[in-house]
Amino acid sequence: MLPPIASRFVAGETAPAALEHARETNERGVGVILNLLGEHYHEREPADADAAAYCELVDDIAGTDLRARISVKPSQLGLDVGEDVFRENLARVVERADERGVFVWLDMEDHTTTDATLDAFEHHARETGGTDGREGPPNERAGSEATRETDGGVGVCVQANLRRTREDLERLADLPGKVRLVKGAYDPPEAVAYREKSRVNEAYRDCLEYMFEAFDDGVAVGSHDPEMVALAERLHDEHGTPYEVQMLMGVREDAQYDLADDREVWQYAPYGSKWLSYFYRRVLERKENLAFALRAVVGG
Ligand code: FAD
Repeated sequence: MLPPIASRFVAGETAPAALEHARETNERGVGVILNLLGEHYHEREPADADAAAYCELVDDIAGTDLRARISVKPSQLGLDVGEDVFRENLARVVERADERGVFVWLDMEDHTTTDATLDAFEHHARETGGTDGREGPPNERAGSEATRETDGGVGVCVQANLRRTREDLERLADLPGKVRLVKGAYDPPEAVAYREKSRVNEAYRDCLEYMFEAFDDGVAVGSHDPEMVALAERLHDEHGTPYEVQMLMGVREDAQYDLADDREVWQYAPYGSKWLSYFYRRVLERKENLAFALRAVVGG
């Protein structure tokens, strides 16, 4: 069973628990991006099993009125086994999701996987025809049949700390589909990445400015940083480009609910039995996360 200390960051061990979390989060005006925890499989079997689990999750979501999307990791679908295995499994998931009208995000892993991830995204973005094309804050649409995802599409994450990303964005601007900009959670070498925090922030601002100028299908701001969220708001006012803010489950949740009053907000919520390493990562990233989770357990 998921210990209470981890349940701040993880939406449960099973799909029904994750869907229940999605329902509660939707009720507060925030959409949910569900990620089945799992990565870096070196054999085909677990990658195939997770692809099958995502197909079932897509069916589960499609059978509800939830505002829920899914997010998959390339190495979870078999990229470490072979690019062909990843592409085959991704095709299974995206085809099912497209049939059922569920949006699929592709997470971005370490810099050695960027080309394979963007190539796969490009293929499916052209095939599925892109975004859901809906605008406006989700809670304005809450409660009606029209609130559920009904036309699929794919999105991809890019990392501002990689030197290549600004150029990648120019390629992505010509494609249908959404792009999530994050600062980058991995630790790439200096030859390919900015290492200083201030330089990463500068790159994030540059990329965001370009995206609001060049992306018609909208921008996904994947950051908890109040400065970046405020910049996105200013750029939206200037260019009129639609955008959404995405944050992780358990991080600045009050801000997520507040922001959802007047813009589109999505919460990335992982679930599944492999929760321990994800929880550990959140704690390493920011020691306050542990203090907060402990307070939730001991009631301090
Ligand atoms: P940081 O630079 O970490 O922090 C900036 C400011 O944000 C802080 O000063 C503080 O004011 C606020 N803040 C940050 N964390 C907290 C907290 N716990 N509590 C309170 N305030 C806080 N990375 C990838 O490499 N690939 C992915 O596919 C990917 N997907 C992601 C999806 C989503 C929805 C999100 C939100 C992040 C994702 N990331 C991904 C992680 C991302 O790359 C960053 O590592 C992570 O978001 C931390 O950067 P930040 O922009 O939130 O702000």
